[in-house]
Amino acid sequence: MALTYLDHAATSPLLLEVIDAMHVAEEEFFANASALHTPGHSAMNAIEKARKSLARLIGSDPDEIIFTSGASESNNTVIRTFEGHMIETSPLEHHSILEAAREYGGNKLPKLYSYMLANNETGEILDIAEVVARAKKDAFVDWPGMFDKKNDWGRPLVTLKKGGYIHSDLTQALGKIPIDVKALGLDYATMSAHKIGGPLGVGALYVRKGVPFKPLIIGGNQENKRRGGTYNVVGIVGFGAAVDKILETQSWIKYDTEVRGLRDELAEQILARIPGSSLNTNITSGASLPHILNVSFRAAEGESIQLYLDAEGIIVSTGSACAAGDTKPSHVLMAKTGDAEVAHSSIRFSFGLDNDSRDIDRVMAVLPEIVNRLQQMSTITYDNSL
Ligand code: PMP
Repeated sequence: MALTYLDHAATSPLLLEVIDAMHVAEEEFFANASALHTPGHSAMNAIEKARKSLARLIGSDPDEIIFTSGASESNNTVIRTFEGHMIETSPLEHHSILEAAREYGGNKLPKLYSYMLANNETGEILDIAEVVARAKKDAFVDWPGMFDKKNDWGRPLVTLKKGGYIHSDLTQALGKIPIDVKALGLDYATMSAHKIGGPLGVGALYVRKGVPFKPLIIGGNQENKRRGGTYNVVGIVGFGAAVDKILETQSWIKYDTEVRGLRDELAEQILARIPGSSLNTNITSGASLPHILNVSFRAAEGESIQLYLDAEGIIVSTGSACAAGDTKPSHVLMAKTGDAEVAHSSIRFSFGLDNDSRDIDRVMAVLPEIVNRLQQMSTITYDNSL
């Protein structure tokens, strides 16, 4: 059975160009990239090529990019750098921000503001410019006790140059909308290869020159002493190939037209044909990423819908895949709606460049009946206090 894969926001299948580049890298760039011999240099050159591509994509310098094992590690690295400091974030963030901030946050200044550029469950695009403006304004907010200690000339020992540093998780937005980290005013930014057709287990962190940084993994000089551990050459080459494809095709243009068209068409058909359906994604242009559609179906459980669709070869997710197996309602939908029924009855459809209108037809050939059957059997009551 041919799959209708609509779970690109969880993981997007490897691009053919990525598979080819990784095959070549497995054979040619087998050596330890830190080694001083010729095969080591070749492997390092391949890594630096990928670093340049990624820097070009986000408008940074190559040496402001650190390769990691994924977005979770990148997020943890930034939060750990600000251990003991105030960390401001939103309830919509990925768990790798929320749990790290809960674990390591404190009340020292300067403060870290961590806000994702776009949400992985609803696709909502957040107002980063507002966060940046506020972070700069906060520079002048006094913090009692902070500036009490004076040096011999009566000047404060601590001078706060600006209110805070700004981190954004770009994981879902990369390649879907144009991104320029300098124009956005970011100090740190998180990325992941497997959301853009690259391999699993590779990510990156943008760290603006001159901002605080503390390695998460110590015990090696790799990445300019910013992340210990032998380089994942093949993975990084695969990431670079996925980035090159984005650069060559300016993928955000197709996302904004074709993919958005598919997404909106599915939204329209669902609303028209399925009673009790409501959108958790604001599909107005600019409000959300073009490839994510989150929908709730009153009195039908998301997990059941997902399983019935799976049996038909249609692959979607409920809430976020990262929380799969977790029966708690999605923290994002609860934060947005406060309604456990909305959260429990939600399905996320996420599109890629390999989808077309036949995928919509396949979904609409079975979804109305699946939802209807579940609604007829429903005896569920929901607890909004969760
Ligand atoms: N942040 C966001 C916004 C995500 O969507 C994800 C993946 N669900 C992650 C972080 C974690 O990414 P990774 O799998 O690369 O650790």
